Amino acid sequence: MKLLEGKSALITGASRGIGKGIALKFAEHGANVAFTYLSSVEKGVALENELKAFGVNAKGYRSDAADFNSAEQLINQMVTDFGRIDIVVNNAGITRDNLLMRMSEESFDETIKTNLKSVFNITKAVQKIMLKQRYGSIINISSVVGVRGNAGQANYAASKAGIIGFTKSVALELGSRNIRCNAVAPGFIETEMTAVLDEKVVQGWRDAIPLKRGGTTDDVANLCVFLGSDMSAYITGQCINVCGGMLT
Ligand code: NAP
Repeated sequence: MKLLEGKSALITGASRGIGKGIALKFAEHGANVAFTYLSSVEKGVALENELKAFGVNAKGYRSDAADFNSAEQLINQMVTDFGRIDIVVNNAGITRDNLLMRMSEESFDETIKTNLKSVFNITKAVQKIMLKQRYGSIINISSVVGVRGNAGQANYAASKAGIIGFTKSVALELGSRNIRCNAVAPGFIETEMTAVLDEKVVQGWRDAIPLKRGGTTDDVANLCVFLGSDMSAYITGQCINVCGGMLT
């Protein structure tokens, strides 16, 4: 069953990893997909072609989610290209890990700007469109680290916890207009990035997870399909963990 037939979705930061997994899963479910990346032009072009193979409209945009004016331009361009925006997945994110003692002001600011302010930028721009449509589902990718904190990631944890507060507030503001807003908090998800890590270390992480494995990009994407679809029509203001039971 295709759950997103006829819907148009925007996914930020989809040139690789979780964002790419969400884009592909959305196309498989019949959604027209717009996506962004910051620097990976070649990967963007390749993904656009992969998505079109599902028989949907697809377009990649090089756009910095952390920049307020670029986000506004992106949303206007997407409306011109796709006609409407039913689903937004705010996925673009970075890590700049260090202990607080060694964390620079720049790495704190950069992390907050890319991970948290980007969610404000895109959501603010898209709300006008969704208000006119009286329809929309906004999905913000947080992290278990935003829920429980993590040593060496104070900047990242603050940005991801901020996303949860933002999500709940937007859900309260826009619920009466049939616009939903939820957060997704992935645990340890295995991507190209984690494939280069020491196998023994990674196995240790897997062993500590109740389901005894790292998550896949599909595990996160499946929840996003559900939250983007009308199957979740009565769910808003929630933060749902996809973490194999790491948090209970
Ligand atoms: P990733 O592989 O590093 O991919 C990040 C994506 O974001 C790339 O496509 C990158 O594009 C894009 N991006 C970065 N800064 C951007 C900006 N300013 N504007 C637009 N796009 C930008 O990351 P991931 O592991 O898939 O993570 C995706 C999201 O899930 C992040 O928000 C992350 O915090 C969250 N998360 C991940 C895990 C995990 O275990 N992997 C766990 C919890 C939460 P470029 O090609 O241009 O660099």
